[in-house]
Amino acid sequence: MSIRALARFPALPAAVVALATGAFAQPAPQPPSQPCPAVRDVLLTNGRIHTMETGNTVVDTVRIVGDRFAEVGTRRLPTSSCTRTIDLEGRTAVPGLIDNHNHIVLLGLRPGHDTRLESAASIDDVLALLAARAATLPNGEWITSIGGFDVNQFVPPPGMPRFPTLAELDSVTPNHPVFIQMSFAGPSVTNSQGKRFFEEAGIEVGADGAIAGGFQTPNPTTRALHELRRRQTLADQKRGTQDAMRYAASLGLTTHLDEGGFPATGTAADGAAHFDRYRAYDALLELYAEGALTQRIRLNFLHMETDPATPELAARLANVFPRYGDDLLRIVGIGEFTAGAAPIIGEATEVWRNGTRRVAEAGWRNENHSLTPQDFRVIIDEWERLNASLPSPGIREQRWVLAHAPFITEEYAAKLKALGGGVSVLGGWRYISGTAQQNGPPFKMLLDSGIPIGMSSDGMQISPMNPWLGLYYVVTGKNARGEVINAGQTLDRATALRLYTAANGWFLGEEGSLGTITPGKYADLAVLSDDYFDARAVSDEDIKRITSLLTLVGGQIVYGDPGAL
Ligand SMILES: [Zn+2]
Repeated sequence: MSIRALARFPALPAAVVALATGAFAQPAPQPPSQPCPAVRDVLLTNGRIHTMETGNTVVDTVRIVGDRFAEVGTRRLPTSSCTRTIDLEGRTAVPGLIDNHNHIVLLGLRPGHDTRLESAASIDDVLALLAARAATLPNGEWITSIGGFDVNQFVPPPGMPRFPTLAELDSVTPNHPVFIQMSFAGPSVTNSQGKRFFEEAGIEVGADGAIAGGFQTPNPTTRALHELRRRQTLADQKRGTQDAMRYAASLGLTTHLDEGGFPATGTAADGAAHFDRYRAYDALLELYAEGALTQRIRLNFLHMETDPATPELAARLANVFPRYGDDLLRIVGIGEFTAGAAPIIGEATEVWRNGTRRVAEAGWRNENHSLTPQDFRVIIDEWERLNASLPSPGIREQRWVLAHAPFITEEYAAKLKALGGGVSVLGGWRYISGTAQQNGPPFKMLLDSGIPIGMSSDGMQISPMNPWLGLYYVVTGKNARGEVINAGQTLDRATALRLYTAANGWFLGEEGSLGTITPGKYADLAVLSDDYFDARAVSDEDIKRITSLLTLVGGQIVYGDPGAL
């Protein structure tokens, strides 16, 4: 850096400039007040700060210098005249939450102004969220909500689950077209403005705003989704990605491992989880280049192909640097599909088996989802066979992960542990749509097994991103209808939160720099609206309503106002 360049930085202390210019021979008189260096220096004090380190120390003060925690302790940490002090007013703070498996990239790509309905517990809640969103948008802009909720949560029992009607939507959004879609491919609902638009495109809409959907596509819902996607620009996708990051930060999340999307066809057959695999990361990469990422994003690449030679996966592994990136954006591995879908039962398919071998031979991390009472057996048995055929250490140091795993058994957890693997468990999905039969995962059994276990949301299609809904499920075993469906496998609050923080560093390969409030680690932290740890002050039901008042990523405030604590 030249001296002229140095002079352009008014924040540099005079001594640095003096050093650079060799001006020490004749010391210049000190200016009356030294300008503070550009490096960030923040003291959070008077809090109940849970470090989530082993033993979960609670401290009241933490100092951040630059993008990392510098010191953690009780009272009187050293400061300088340049330290900015934030009084937490007795609030509870925790490490920024890490979601080890979700689809935040897909959420960013939603057409319209996606408005998360994940936390709505009634039709009135839904309408209030939509009204609040409408108040921030120019008339005529689309308000959408695509995936992440189930109508189960909108009507308390004994009422029948349902969508809001066209008339109800009109009552809060008379000036904006609205489209609310459940899950991958509907059903969905719209208001009067939306109905006019969709009917002009030849899509059938009921008098009450209902649009049919279901597993088979194309259907009226996916045709509606396609109409909205066709009008989307890259600028819209960037805005959507910023909205997604802001929503995450509002819940105390700071890091996500994204698990990709299905290869889109660009037609009305595509559902909410499809994206253009060549262009899907454009918005994210532009924001990254602009320095506008407010969450740490990690990427797994989802591969789904039919050719048993797996040419796409082969090209990926040959041409992409594994673990490339930096602390804000980094590649992690392949998943949650490896070339083909993991088999549900019986023999593994050739495309999946070939893909799995390729990932192992390339030395990448691999992740497969497991949903049924059988599929985890096929996956883990095949991983075991593959590992036995590889030179030592095989896949043991690559941290292969089984995700969701609602029905995994003790025997298979032990097998996976022996392979050096881990299990990503989720709560929110079972919370919004679980039943006595569709329950699990066995949190307690997995924890007792000693295998690495960490939490995720698997948001944004079939499950909410909101980690507090997932934590509520872990702690209570109750679904959104209030039914206990996971009895015997619940965990206490601190242990549950550990799975969303400290335990998740392992899943990213970043346990040395993320997950706890520890000097030297990145200064990612959330100041909570309520004291999650205090069961007397915050009931189990209240856990669902916890939000973040102030979220920091790398010591920078990405959400909230310290003045309003
Ligand atoms: Zn997933």
